[in-house]
Amino acid sequence: VKKIAVLTSGGDAPGMNAAIRSVVRTCAYHNIEVVGVYRGYQGMIEGDFEEMNARSVRDIINRGGTILKSARSKDFKTPEGRKAAYEKLKAAGVDSLVVIGGDGSFTGALLFNKEFGFPVMGIPGTIDNDIYGTDFTLGYDTALNTVIEAIDKIRDTASSHNRLFFIEVMGRDAGHIALNSGVGAGAEEILIPEENIGLKKLLESLEKSRRTGKTSSLVVVAEGDKIGKNVFELKEYVEQHHPDYDVRVSVLGHMQRGGAPSCFDRVLASRMGVKAVESLLEGKSNYMVGIRNNKMELTPLEKAIKGSSKIDTELLRVAEIMAT
Ligand code: ADP
Repeated sequence: VKKIAVLTSGGDAPGMNAAIRSVVRTCAYHNIEVVGVYRGYQGMIEGDFEEMNARSVRDIINRGGTILKSARSKDFKTPEGRKAAYEKLKAAGVDSLVVIGGDGSFTGALLFNKEFGFPVMGIPGTIDNDIYGTDFTLGYDTALNTVIEAIDKIRDTASSHNRLFFIEVMGRDAGHIALNSGVGAGAEEILIPEENIGLKKLLESLEKSRRTGKTSSLVVVAEGDKIGKNVFELKEYVEQHHPDYDVRVSVLGHMQRGGAPSCFDRVLASRMGVKAVESLLEGKSNYMVGIRNNKMELTPLEKAIKGSSKIDTELLRVAEIMAT
């Protein structure tokens, strides 16, 4: 390994910059050359590279987003696109690749390796925490902190006006953000795709808490929840059955993906970058770097893509008890 390329791909997440910094500095530490690829796979196809050194990544550990930009590339899904990317890397003298992204990006990386035998290593960067092989993805902890800060503020209004709030949070098909932020922010109900509580039970729960003296409620809803209603339909449904409820909806949206990474995400990113580069140096390829039981571990990309991250049943129970 003489020259490593690093890119960020798919949805951005806080901590991506800290991971780029770590990859670049680990290369510098081992006297290997490193190039940053702009705009993910699209920039790889177009040869949008920049030679980097330890000083190129100053002042970014604390910044959200990604200085290398991210993109979704249709061209990389075609054999011609991947061939063009390979040619560009070869011409630049690059012999290994670190991809910071989600499972879509890993699928592309794996295909790229299969076609050209190009060594690749993945770092999981997504706020959704929906990737198999790691307890935490980069950006997840920051997003959770952002979400509970927002819900705390909504709580002020909810309790001042005796309102019921449905708060939609991100997470794609996974309920990790909803469940953890829901417990952290003290939500009364948490609706996640992994567990369909049903509309009837939701109403019962709200009625019960009213009877026991609760005057306002926060319900956290995962965007991928399968109760069959989005937050606006939920509001309508509850109002139909309880015209006396004062219901409001808040969709938190993209604020969840931004902001300065938490200390946890910065440390995780630093550890993942070191592990990714040093694994390539050991001759390994086609793995994703992850953290399990506070140890850095490698998971074959194939497994990371196909596996699913499980919801914590103990935490589900805690959520239920806390809503008493
Ligand atoms: P994420 O990595 O966050 O899951 P995407 O699913 O959008 O985000 O994937 C990011 C990029 O990875 C895509 O724009 C595409 O260039 C590449 N990619 C995704 N799936 C494939 C695939 N099946 N084959 C080749 N490239 C892919």
